[in-house]
Amino acid sequence: MSRAFFIRGAHDGYVAPFNLRKGQPGEVLLDVASVGLCGSDLHYYKDGGIGSAVVKEPFVPGHEFGGYLCEDFGGLSKGALVAVDPNKACGHCEYCEKGYANLCPNVEFIGAPPFNGAMTERIWVPSSQIVPLPENFTPLEAVMLEPLGVAIHAVDLAKPKLLEQVALVGCGPIGLLILQVLKVAGAGEILAVDPLEHRRDMAARLGAARTGSSVNDIRAWTSREGTPLVIEATNSPLGFRDAVLASKIGGRIVLVGIPDGDTYTLPAAEARRRGLKIKFARRMGEVYPRAIELVAGGKVDVTSLVTHQVGLDEAPDTFRNHADNAPGYIKSLIYPNGL
Ligand SMILES: [Zn+2]
Ligand SMILES: [Zn+2]
Repeated sequence: MSRAFFIRGAHDGYVAPFNLRKGQPGEVLLDVASVGLCGSDLHYYKDGGIGSAVVKEPFVPGHEFGGYLCEDFGGLSKGALVAVDPNKACGHCEYCEKGYANLCPNVEFIGAPPFNGAMTERIWVPSSQIVPLPENFTPLEAVMLEPLGVAIHAVDLAKPKLLEQVALVGCGPIGLLILQVLKVAGAGEILAVDPLEHRRDMAARLGAARTGSSVNDIRAWTSREGTPLVIEATNSPLGFRDAVLASKIGGRIVLVGIPDGDTYTLPAAEARRRGLKIKFARRMGEVYPRAIELVAGGKVDVTSLVTHQVGLDEAPDTFRNHADNAPGYIKSLIYPNGL
């Protein structure tokens, strides 16, 4: 009998025995090396769901993970470390055919209810979703490819111009990855805000030109004009509003965050009068090769973001600490088979 971390409902997470399901044809079995605790996992934990994706029965979260092959597969030997793309799109709907697999309405996403995720010792995954890794990659790097992919997708949507000033609203793990990808993409000064001091410190360390605690700082630094490009990566219902307030007239906004309570609060006139162009980011497109290249080439520092690495038994406390915004927590990784 293996074990897993389960979410049963709001603020109700626990470790318990878990029956590994039978593998299907075309699936590969992995020993889970490491799993990231993502903001979306935290929403399932805090709210018991995200929009229509509701936790109806105990489910195992975890979609950012790396694992060791339990048998030889496709030129890789048993024991090789691989990453997994959690998004299994149907491949034949209108959106898949247009190349938007991230928007497929028939998607099966590993670690989004009702599909159990990787916060367990072993997992079967479709072989088509296995991502081979360079030899020297660590479990930490394998995990961070997925959130880095979200950041790459956000910057793809944002299309920063060379040396363009950018406001970054929210400096959690995704925001801090976006910050670094923006720099690789040639963006100019990045003005980053977050209410939590330790996240601001990390943003400064990773190259933000200025850091502050709220959107009022961005307004003050830009003579109340705002910036031409704003990327929002918060979990706040006010994230959309703050992005609007940080934006210059005629500016572009990319919304990446998932708001607590699944609702945005926004003064309409502030947005309308600016004539804004707004995009919503949904997961990611074809990003893994670039994510691997960024990590392998040392262009993005994923290691500094990982503040906590724990075993499965510490998962409940780790979720609680993230829900409470405990000081010092940025990104936590869980190692279901031990560190
Ligand atoms: Zn994630
Ligand atoms: Zn589809």
